[in-house]
Amino acid sequence: MTDSNWSYTSNTPNLRLVRSYEVPVQPIQVSHVSVQYRQVKALEDVSVSVQPGRLTGLIGPNGAGKSTLLKAMLGLVPVTEGSVLYGEQALADKRDRIAYVPQRSQIDWQYPATVWDVVMMGRVRQAGFFRRFSTASRRKAQAALERVGMAEFRDRPIGQLSGGQQQRVFLARSLAQEADIFCFDEPFVGVDQKTETVLFQIFRSLANEGKVVLVVNHDLGESITHFDNLILLNRELIASGPREHVLNRDNLSQAYGGHVNFYAA
Ligand code: ADP
Ligand code: MG
Repeated sequence: MTDSNWSYTSNTPNLRLVRSYEVPVQPIQVSHVSVQYRQVKALEDVSVSVQPGRLTGLIGPNGAGKSTLLKAMLGLVPVTEGSVLYGEQALADKRDRIAYVPQRSQIDWQYPATVWDVVMMGRVRQAGFFRRFSTASRRKAQAALERVGMAEFRDRPIGQLSGGQQQRVFLARSLAQEADIFCFDEPFVGVDQKTETVLFQIFRSLANEGKVVLVVNHDLGESITHFDNLILLNRELIASGPREHVLNRDNLSQAYGGHVNFYAA
């Protein structure tokens, strides 16, 4: 969570300087992906690439297949056709590089975990499930909580927080994970203005660090201007690319049907 790639470890009496091995983040290539649930064809022949270093919004009406596309990318639902590659490899095989925050409705808020427990889940893969968390892991989790402005809540049960606070804790967990690819499903639903501001600031800095940042968003209002790129979906891909290019009347009426208001600045 530091801005540099250098970190100090103090396991030995002498402070050691460690350079983490750095591989540039690759684009994600979705090719001809179709997903069929029992009755419903949720996605049909979707091909799109998601570029690192760009804040990318995934938009489209309710039931358009936005969540399904994220889940298909992560290997959480099977694709009936097509592939999702990260560089040369299947993205689903690189799960340790991905941080994913599902839609609110898919999270069990009664789960008896504190804010700290949730953020430390982001460190499980590095620590190994039954191993004790290292000092470095704790420090990273603490830094992530501070970055989202939730450090003072660390001992609170997650279920007792507001929607915005919960969303910031999940963002902290994804930061603690130190992933290359960040996927958020409707993170702005039911959150306060402060949370929206914090989320967009952090999404922007992740994109500036060269990460892949993909955010499902259904609001076409002013907040849409935060995104560099958009992917517009309605079961099929309608358009993708730079925001100014995607947001036009033709594309939007194709996706939403009829007249739709959007913020075009
Ligand atoms: P969005 O996130 O854009 O609102 P979804 O990806 O959730 O859309 O859903 C796309 C379509 O697939 C919808 O018609 C939805 O009802 C259907 N669907 C989603 N999940 C399932 C599921 N687990 N089983 C059956 N149908 C599903
Ligand atoms: Mg959804």
